[in-house]
Amino acid sequence: MNNNNFRATKKVVVDAGHGGSDPGAINGNVYEKDFNLEVANYIYNRLKELGVPVYITRDTDETLDRNERVSRILNAFGNNSDVIVLSNHINAGGGEGAEVVYALRNEETLARSILDEIGNAGQKKRSYYQKRLPEDPSKDYYFIQRLTGNTEPVLIEYGFIDNKNDLYKLQNNLLDYGEAVVKAVTNYIGVPYIPATPGIDNNIYIVKKGDSLYSIANKYGITVNELKAANNLTSNLLNVGQTLIIPTINPDITLPENYIVYTVKKGDTLFKIASEYNISVNDLIDFNQLTTTSIVIGQQLLIPTNEEETNTITYIVLPGDSLWKIANNCNITVDDIVKLNSLQTTIIQPGDELKLSKNCNINTDNNPDNNINENDIKHVVTKNETLYSIAQKYGTTVDDIIEYNNLSTNVLQLGQILYIPNTSEYINYYVQPNDSLYSISRRFNTTIDAIKKLNNLTSDTLYINQLLLIP
Ligand SMILES: [Zn+2]
Repeated sequence: MNNNNFRATKKVVVDAGHGGSDPGAINGNVYEKDFNLEVANYIYNRLKELGVPVYITRDTDETLDRNERVSRILNAFGNNSDVIVLSNHINAGGGEGAEVVYALRNEETLARSILDEIGNAGQKKRSYYQKRLPEDPSKDYYFIQRLTGNTEPVLIEYGFIDNKNDLYKLQNNLLDYGEAVVKAVTNYIGVPYIPATPGIDNNIYIVKKGDSLYSIANKYGITVNELKAANNLTSNLLNVGQTLIIPTINPDITLPENYIVYTVKKGDTLFKIASEYNISVNDLIDFNQLTTTSIVIGQQLLIPTNEEETNTITYIVLPGDSLWKIANNCNITVDDIVKLNSLQTTIIQPGDELKLSKNCNINTDNNPDNNINENDIKHVVTKNETLYSIAQKYGTTVDDIIEYNNLSTNVLQLGQILYIPNTSEYINYYVQPNDSLYSISRRFNTTIDAIKKLNNLTSDTLYINQLLLIP
């Protein structure tokens, strides 16, 4: 398959119906406008990552009157028949299932295909149809079709907010129906459809003069091999203007520490891939939240591995560091670091861990993980600590700590990392984001009380990177 040089022949405007002071249909405190926004944003992002020119009428809870909405639609890509408008809505009035309405000026193909795919995604199909204005049957009933010129608008009603079954589906499966729309639309406009991979957002990159696979991979913090795999490239040659898919990590989803992104090739089966990477088919299914065992060429799968990532190094922030200083040392931009680490802020603290490209010429000796035994205790020096107090804490000696950490001075810096040889019979566990005493006790097959007692905990509150001894 070669999906590197496609050009989308059509453009898409995604419309989130209602919004702001206009809630649309209501059931108690559940509003149509919120569902519409959620599914519209999803479709917009997915089409964008698949390389389709796309615009969204609103991406927040904004009030849009009819004129403003129509003008945004017509201004996005012009008043042309190659512009598809996907207007997202939720029905009310006592029915059940999905409906798609298409304009009097258009054929049924797109509407039928959207409804079919929503049906394949598990929603009940009602019908696809055209609707005429009673006072003038030569005109469309809905303004999204009547007032939108030459465009090809479809109004998608995903289900009924006042139907119990539909409401459950809207609250749990709406994005599956959004994905169904993406599939139908890409098929309709002739753009290769690649299913969504949990945890991965695909970005599209257009090759510029002077780019190489290496420079692009480096820019996004991935390896040349990952980049080639994601694009089914067999050679290292690039053409200016060529479209590349960049697999990047979605920061909203927690991924395991080590994994690779695998792009399905011709002849692959889940079984074949699983045996190649020495994992079970079930793990592969669970890990990728697959709902079927059939896979398609170009689909991306996450494969858990035990191997360390080799294209990044971990740098531990020192007192006095700033992102600017680190970026400068690395010959990259602050933005590169922010992206690679999915940072929400540019403020960093001593002791923070940063992923950097392994080509970065920076001293990581202060990162004990690079030198020392993984069973050892990692201690981050906090305010008022001395070598003596730390030695006391871990039942070791000042000299042992100096020796073990190759220290040339007794003066400690805030945020400095010290490594303490672990002679304890207990497991050292560092609290991870989203951990609770309960989840940890389950993981190590012990009890909350046993953990609290061993660690002298008086409350259930944990903090990230807190060291717990596990009995
Ligand atoms: Zn509506």
